[in-house]
Amino acid sequence: SIAITGATGQLGRLVIADLLATGVPADQITAVARSAEKAADLVARGVRLHVADYDRPETFAGAFQPGDRVLLISASDVGRRTAQHAAVIDAAAAAGVAQLAYVGVFGGPKADFLLAGEHRTTEELILATGLPYTFLRNNWYSDAPMFTGDLASILARGAIVNSVHGESRIATASRGDYAAAAAAVLTSDGHLNAAYELSGDHAWTFGEFAEVITRLSGTKVVHSYVPPQEQKAMMTGAGLPDALAEIFVDVDEAINRGALAGTPGDLSRLIGRPTTPMAETVAAALAELA
Ligand code: NDP
Repeated sequence: SIAITGATGQLGRLVIADLLATGVPADQITAVARSAEKAADLVARGVRLHVADYDRPETFAGAFQPGDRVLLISASDVGRRTAQHAAVIDAAAAAGVAQLAYVGVFGGPKADFLLAGEHRTTEELILATGLPYTFLRNNWYSDAPMFTGDLASILARGAIVNSVHGESRIATASRGDYAAAAAAVLTSDGHLNAAYELSGDHAWTFGEFAEVITRLSGTKVVHSYVPPQEQKAMMTGAGLPDALAEIFVDVDEAINRGALAGTPGDLSRLIGRPTTPMAETVAAALAELA
């Protein structure tokens, strides 16, 4: 059967919905979640539940069976994730699963920005187990929290303010696209000991993003560059912890180096269709704001 960690999160829920939609029987899917309450709707659909917390490795005992396909969706506590992921990896190795798929970051071991460190060490831990792996190295999501998640404040100030240069590009895709790719590698053959660089078909500039918002909302929005230190001061001034502000500014610098601009096409190949254009994700986010 197929086990999904982070099953009650946004990506996890989309993966499970895709698995069910493609005909995987609900009782062949295990949702691994820290809250039984949050998973109640999944259980109501017949999905099996294993309650486990990344911070308590012993809770993963019995989560996986020999021969399972497992999807490890990366945790959200930046700075503590390697140890959290190790809890899942150890349990998967102890069970002898048939596939350990991991949602990492675009560029894999070559990614040179701060956020990538924990993904790199997680991939190394997985390789060290000798388990058949599938690395799903996701580029950024077009959806909230990052891009369209900021839409209300972007519209209010009429500007997207960051330290990305006008000509720099990023190839995002929708969270639904990445979920479909995860479901595909868990339900078809040929993905063992493989790494996929998943990104949108089109790499966009923030000026283009501003134009899309302007066109779809009727509110004039521009992209406005500020130097990294100024951007960091803006974020800490708005209450963001210093370490997180540092990480966000570092991402913008990575975008300026072209680290997130690649469009190798792995994502559209895996899902068998073009990736969702940013305009579609913006339109959906505007509809939610209305
Ligand atoms: P969510 O925050 O919606 O989901 C994270 C999941 O991890 C939730 O199900 C959460 O459980 C679970 N989780 C967190 N801490 C623990 C813990 N200690 N024990 C067990 N489960 C835990 O994020 P998304 O689904 O949107 O994204 C998935 C991952 O992708 C993120 O965690 C992050 O690593 C990465 N990401 C990447 C982005 C990008 O643009 N590339 C953007 C956003 C995230 P619960 O439901 O109980 O909260």
